[in-house]
Amino acid sequence: MIGIPQNKNMGQSENMVKIVERLFSESLFLPSEIEKKYPPRELKANAMVTRIAPSPTGFMHIGGLYTALISERFAHQTDGFFYIRIEDTDRKREVAGASSLLVKSLSYYGINTDEGQTLSGEEIGMYGPYSQSKRAEIYKAYIKDLVVKDLAYPCFSTLEELEEMYSIQEAEKVRPGYYGQWAKWRNKPDQEVLRALDEGKSFVIRFQSNGNCSNKVFFKDVLRGGRELPENDQDVVIMKSDGLPTYHLAHVVDDHLMGTTHVIRGDEWLSSTPLHLQLFQALNWDPPHYGHISPIQKIEGVSKRKLSKRKDSEASVSYYDEQGYPKDAVIEYLLNLANSNFEDWRKINPDKNNREFTLTFAKLANSSGALFDFDKLNNISKELIARYSVDDIYSKGLDWAKKYDLEFSKIFEQNPDYTKGILGIERSGQTNVRKDIAKWSDLKHETEYFFDRLFHLTTEGIIESLLGINTNDIKTTVKDFIESYREDDSKDQWFEKIKEISIEHGYAGNIKIFKEDPKKYKGYVADIAKIFRVLLTGRVNTPDLYSIMHIMGKDRVLKRLSVIK
Ligand code: GLU
Repeated sequence: MIGIPQNKNMGQSENMVKIVERLFSESLFLPSEIEKKYPPRELKANAMVTRIAPSPTGFMHIGGLYTALISERFAHQTDGFFYIRIEDTDRKREVAGASSLLVKSLSYYGINTDEGQTLSGEEIGMYGPYSQSKRAEIYKAYIKDLVVKDLAYPCFSTLEELEEMYSIQEAEKVRPGYYGQWAKWRNKPDQEVLRALDEGKSFVIRFQSNGNCSNKVFFKDVLRGGRELPENDQDVVIMKSDGLPTYHLAHVVDDHLMGTTHVIRGDEWLSSTPLHLQLFQALNWDPPHYGHISPIQKIEGVSKRKLSKRKDSEASVSYYDEQGYPKDAVIEYLLNLANSNFEDWRKINPDKNNREFTLTFAKLANSSGALFDFDKLNNISKELIARYSVDDIYSKGLDWAKKYDLEFSKIFEQNPDYTKGILGIERSGQTNVRKDIAKWSDLKHETEYFFDRLFHLTTEGIIESLLGINTNDIKTTVKDFIESYREDDSKDQWFEKIKEISIEHGYAGNIKIFKEDPKKYKGYVADIAKIFRVLLTGRVNTPDLYSIMHIMGKDRVLKRLSVIK
């Protein structure tokens, strides 16, 4: 049972009326009037109403996107509603323009909000305003009601006094906080409160808890199952000295009025859930279901830790755009992190929209302590890009380059047909599509040797790559190849010629023959192909060499091969 103080002061004393008037001098709506403006939602059975409630600090953590995605999917897969509420009551932390950035990010990632701030900056929805700073009067009305009902009270303790209290608690080795005997202003005589008000002292409003921390509160977390936590006995601040509420009170009021059915949030809030349930009870409302998500972690040394805003660039949502991960890859990676069966679903349904995948709380519960895994992200992204058309890769890659690598973008778009030809190698009309691009920033590395301005071959590079191949063979095979090269040869004809050149120079025509008697040969056909590959691309590993030569065109091929004389 959650401890709620009994209403000991129903028959309001004259002083109490004075105190309430002084604390809340403005005229406020009555809670009953407010309730009328927020009628219960008409929902289908089992429809969920969820929300994302970011604080506009100017930074979007990947964990925030993860929570938003999960919340949005649960709402929409049950025909419910998902909305964004800006939690901007901490004016000190607020960064100008941050809420627009959040809205933009959600929209970019296809996390569709039904209510709240939109891209134009305006709000939509019947349950607003959706920014807490615009709801100050609403919170005040409820805070006032709690004071009137003797469930909250003003506290005039200064910061210094509180510090002193904490040091005494530390010295006495007792639990820190404002509770029980330490709650100095809880039972102050009205006269003293009035005097403090007369003196113009700054105050906060505290919730008056009569919980007992040796009792346990039981609640069912939709992700973690039944939880038992100590009852809250702290008289927590619900209204700060600037008249704005704290998160505890504000989210309770908002989630009630806005008809949230499921609050999915970070597990840093798990330990305050007993307080939140207590507040719901004090206000006579049914609480929503709570689900606490564990943060995305990473391995450092032998231990795991939360992705840190300061230490890990991948903690920021902007990182994925900078690197050029397609937004769907990020979303599918997060879906996979949330429900590990997503990966199998994707294999079975390669062409379906990922919205057709149904997220479950049960699987999400198993994903607790999800580890950030770049290999997984890259694989998901490579698979996804492998399904894109050449035109899509071209335009998405170019968009990225224009934003993050202008110089490369100019080269990339100089001759669109040439670039598309490059991108089409082992892609167009093929069943075994190449999967070498995980992000648009890989494009440069994967294509640069095709562009003369980016291709730099050094003698050292050639020597190193062709180590073990006789220098004279390099010269003479190249000479023979140049002489025999016909651009319109089929792949078979082309390969036959390379084979012939190999045999003529003492190399086996295929690996099988070579292996039968390695001593008889200097090597085999792949070594000769490697000579041409290195001279044309500067690399020992590339996609199909025949296609590369075709796309490069005869002039470029012969020119590059001719560096060997
Ligand atoms: N503003 C809170 C935060 O950013 C929201 C928590 C919640 O979703 O209720 O942590």
